[in-house]
Amino acid sequence: MSKAEIIDIEQAVDRLEQEVPNYRVPVVDLIAVQSQDPYKVLVATILSARTRDETTAGAAARLFARAPDLDTLARLSEEELAKLIRPVGFFRAKAGYLARLPAALTAKFRGKIPATVEELVQLPGVGRKTANLVVAVAFERPAICVDTHVHRIMNIWGYVNTTTPEATEKALRAKLPQPYWRRINSLLVAFGQEICRPVGPHCDRCPLAQLCPRLGVRPRKPPAPRPPMSAAPGGTSLRLASWNVNGLRAIAKKGFAELAGELDADLLAIQEIKAHPDQLPAEARALPGYQAFWLPAKRKGYSGVAIYSRLEPLKVLYGMGQEEKYEQEGRVLTMEFADFFLVNAYLPNAQPELARLPFKLDFCRHFQQFCENLATQKNVVVCGDLNVAHREIDLARPQENQQSPGFSPAERAWLDGFLANGFTDTFRLFNQEGGNYTWWSYRGGARQRNVGWRIDYFCIDSAGRRRVREAGIRPEIMGSDHCPVTLTLG
Ligand code: SF4
Repeated sequence: MSKAEIIDIEQAVDRLEQEVPNYRVPVVDLIAVQSQDPYKVLVATILSARTRDETTAGAAARLFARAPDLDTLARLSEEELAKLIRPVGFFRAKAGYLARLPAALTAKFRGKIPATVEELVQLPGVGRKTANLVVAVAFERPAICVDTHVHRIMNIWGYVNTTTPEATEKALRAKLPQPYWRRINSLLVAFGQEICRPVGPHCDRCPLAQLCPRLGVRPRKPPAPRPPMSAAPGGTSLRLASWNVNGLRAIAKKGFAELAGELDADLLAIQEIKAHPDQLPAEARALPGYQAFWLPAKRKGYSGVAIYSRLEPLKVLYGMGQEEKYEQEGRVLTMEFADFFLVNAYLPNAQPELARLPFKLDFCRHFQQFCENLATQKNVVVCGDLNVAHREIDLARPQENQQSPGFSPAERAWLDGFLANGFTDTFRLFNQEGGNYTWWSYRGGARQRNVGWRIDYFCIDSAGRRRVREAGIRPEIMGSDHCPVTLTLG
């Protein structure tokens, strides 16, 4: 098929409708699906401007925990709002908008979220893009939200020829068939984040490669040939998730199967299962579509790891092949696939007063050797609760915790060495900001106040780095004192 200078929009949208369900959903759509609440969609949309989805999701979860509706929002000061939503982009300005929002809604719209673009743009912090998105997503009415992805991709496709998002919105209102209006933003945001990226779009694996005129696109240098990646059944990328569930029997009562369904991972590694498989309810022992592999601790009700897998492994390694004292706590479970190993680890806690630090450091040395040996054979993905925050930005209160278990100099030095010797902390490939945590104490409302630690990781060996497409944290997923972390490989 020869490429025209203007994309066939119907074919393009049809193909994206089939393709995009394999990508991550933009966070505002996710909040709409979860809550169907115009207040939450409006607030999340204000937070999401110039902010990564993962960061927006975390800030929205913290904010909605304190302010589930307009009345409770009105009771928070601008300063409290700033603390809750940090580190979203321009958090101070956004805190000001949110502080003024309840009064503006009361004064102009009798305390209700209005459903038209013209009304919404009268609210603080709401421009046309935000207003269109709220109308389309929260009220399911025709509206075209043009953000940078929609503006950029529509011009690449030759469907519009414009220089600003405002001009693109006007042009699309004139020519885009109305049935596409509401969906086009979600489709192109997901597509723009995953395939048609602003820098180096993946034309080499794009489902629209035969349709797209690629106007103004500098082709990305195709990656060097490499052995085929183990792919998810029917998919092109592989999604992994890791979660310390802090007791599988406890979390099973909180809807673990649904929470695992939200993660939609091809490989879901869990830690601290605190149970033998025969002690588990059926819905936790077997998730639909997965095979489960277990490594419980000898002692019942303690430690233990497991992996739910949609892929058939070549081999499963239970433990590290070390002496009994390192193996009896069920801490390291490894699956081998054609082109990589997945190592699921729950590293020991150093304990108060660092009472168990010598054991932990011995364990970590064996663990590092184990991972490095595997990396001589093929790519290695290491995930799990490593029970160490790496740097000061990885916990909320570094000064008070210099000698605490999980942040002691010896534990940090070990992780420094692990990372310096060839493993990469994948989350930091994408995010250099503080305020991103994976564990919060149950005490003192720590999670609500985001006084947390980042101690759960996905790491990959240096040769595997180029396969990393995404690494994130899902603080909005509750059920444990840890939240899941994710990794997507291409
Ligand atoms: S990735 Fe390339 S081929 Fe696909 S839509 Fe973008 S520019 Fe076109």
